[in-house]
Amino acid sequence: MSVTKVMEALPGLDWTTDPALVRQKSRDFFWYSPVLKRQLNKVTGEAVVTPRSEEEVKAVLAAAYAHGVPVTPRGAGTGNYGQAMPLNGGIVLELMAMNRILWAKPSVVRAEAGIKLIELDAQLKKMVGGEIRFHPSTLRTASLGGFVAGGSGGVGSITWGGLREPGNLLGLKLITMEAEPRVIELRGPEITKANHAYGTTGIITEIEMGLAPAHEWVDVVVSFPSLMAAARFSDTFTRMDGVPKKLACVVPAPLPQKHFRQWGAKVPEGETVACLMVAPDFVEVLGPVIAGHGGKVIHQEPTAEAAVPLYEHSWNHTTLQILKTDKTITYLQALFPAPNHLELIAKLEKQFGNEVLYHLEFVRFSGTVCAVGLQIVRFTTEERLEEIMRLHEEAGAPIFNPHTYTLEDGGMKRVDEEQLAFKRRTDPKGLLNPGKMAAWDDPHWTPGRAKQVAMYETEFEAPAEVLE
Ligand code: FAD
Repeated sequence: MSVTKVMEALPGLDWTTDPALVRQKSRDFFWYSPVLKRQLNKVTGEAVVTPRSEEEVKAVLAAAYAHGVPVTPRGAGTGNYGQAMPLNGGIVLELMAMNRILWAKPSVVRAEAGIKLIELDAQLKKMVGGEIRFHPSTLRTASLGGFVAGGSGGVGSITWGGLREPGNLLGLKLITMEAEPRVIELRGPEITKANHAYGTTGIITEIEMGLAPAHEWVDVVVSFPSLMAAARFSDTFTRMDGVPKKLACVVPAPLPQKHFRQWGAKVPEGETVACLMVAPDFVEVLGPVIAGHGGKVIHQEPTAEAAVPLYEHSWNHTTLQILKTDKTITYLQALFPAPNHLELIAKLEKQFGNEVLYHLEFVRFSGTVCAVGLQIVRFTTEERLEEIMRLHEEAGAPIFNPHTYTLEDGGMKRVDEEQLAFKRRTDPKGLLNPGKMAAWDDPHWTPGRAKQVAMYETEFEAPAEVLE
């Protein structure tokens, strides 16, 4: 493997080799997980290249292929499972300079993968009065390509579901890793071959996606006497199809009171909050429903005017806000499937008491309302954490382990044969983001084995970065 030879072959490209900068661009939010922090802390590439065009992407891939050099694509590096980290070194391919909107109409946009989501949203409002249907809580930093290749859903999934739902993604342009890289347009069901594949099946350069009508959203925080009162209200709110909405995030006591600096002091002791994003003309409709569930609005302001918008208290940001001041917690990701999600949450809340605090996000997946949990866990031992995950799964709440960097063990828990077969054609030498598709390296991969390898082996150490 020779990165130098690739650089010599392409002297006109924008290369970075300064070790400190390369190390910085070889990292993401992997330190969220104490397991990944231990496993990946030393990972770094050897050079970063920032292509400005499809031709430059192809040139890098062809030269890297010729010299057997791994290439790991990168957007803004906000993934929280080490998705964008070059496990085998080599080249980090940073896509952020390819950031144009190619065309837009009110219901659809096609843009280059490196555009920042917040920039895309702002431009779409002006151009066509539309906005992204849903975004990660990292709206202000993440890229479009990184979201599609590494994320799944977020703020807006309460109405539109996840990236995998038909109609949310309409087309992807992909460059293959071969002697002569090909350009492939994936459409319809084919899109799953590159969506949430961590860039292991090709470099995404363009994305076509469905849009929603733009709104000037309002942040509304409602306080409830109990977790289940907030959860029941959020479930009802999610089903109110006449109300344009973007968020229903439930955070139980004492988390908002202790960790949410902007408005946490206004939350009565022992109460749970529901954080909502609603279109302004529809806030008044909520009054009787909130009162009927025993709730009280304690804070309200336009999202655009908030110093820290409500969506930065939701999804994976909830954990981040808490980690800033409490180093002893970790988190889980779980699904509470319909139709018994509320009963399941009530049962598990009783079972775990203060050890597991049920931060919930209400969503509509395939037309059905259910809840996703990003539970805050009081960490004691590795064995106990493993047991908590097992007990959730036994109770009927599948866990999407956030403490592993492989595609299979994190989300799918199975080999995606279609993605694997596609990768054989688009990346025959296995040089794209190596190490992330477990089945590529180990054809006998099974969920059980991967889980044992990835589980805690050291004491919990709080990530230094959260304090910065
Ligand atoms: P990166 O982290 O740079 O990359 C993500 C993955 O995509 C990597 O595997 C990378 O190799 C690959 N990749 C990047 N660009 C390309 C490309 N052009 N072609 C092929 N592969 C590519 N995720 C959610 O889904 N929902 C959330 O609500 C959410 N909230 C978050 C909150 C916090 C505080 C943090 C730290 C993370 C959160 N995430 C969430 C995870 C992450 O922020 C999102 O998935 C985000 O969209 C990633 O974008 P990025 O540009 O930073 O991608």
